[in-house]
Amino acid sequence: MDFSQDHENGLIWVLKQLSDVLDLNPAFGMYDDDERNPNAAASWKVLLPATAGAAVSGGTVAVGRQLVKVLKERPVNLGSALTAICAHEYGHILQFKFIYADLAKLPSAGVRTELHADFVCGYFGAFRKQVQPTYDAATQAETQFRLGDGKYKRVSHGTPDQRGDAVYQGFLLGLEGKLDPKDLSARGLEYVRGLKL
Ligand SMILES: [Zn+2]
Repeated sequence: MDFSQDHENGLIWVLKQLSDVLDLNPAFGMYDDDERNPNAAASWKVLLPATAGAAVSGGTVAVGRQLVKVLKERPVNLGSALTAICAHEYGHILQFKFIYADLAKLPSAGVRTELHADFVCGYFGAFRKQVQPTYDAATQAETQFRLGDGKYKRVSHGTPDQRGDAVYQGFLLGLEGKLDPKDLSARGLEYVRGLKL
């Protein structure tokens, strides 16, 4: 599926697959992010209750309009970049559900939390690739790194190598088959706990 020009239609299917693979159902929306810091976000709060309805649980994922604008100007496949970004944010939603407190106790918890979300992004990539063979999570994660940790550093997401490795390890796990999301979360935790940062 090429949704470079029309990401909103393609994104619906990506979000549906994310919900299926990770068994999560967060609210989703676009928001007006700061143009100096194009970004995406995950919150444990269920926002947009009026449109999201009772079926939604586990928080909210939001993608900034500036982020989409910046991605459109880059020589990357917009659909793949948005997919990787959404998968990373869904990774945070998975953390809220199962292991947020465990992650918070680790040294350099902020970076490990981000790398865990990348691990989940890579895991999802194994399933995304089955329907979209050209999807390349590792490259897309790096795209996100450049945006997330650019001039306006707030939270360190880890180096490109660390992020690429986390995505790749998650991807390899995904190739082994679908896991219970709780087990996936735990495997990711094990991975980031073992990292020397
Ligand atoms: Zn993140």
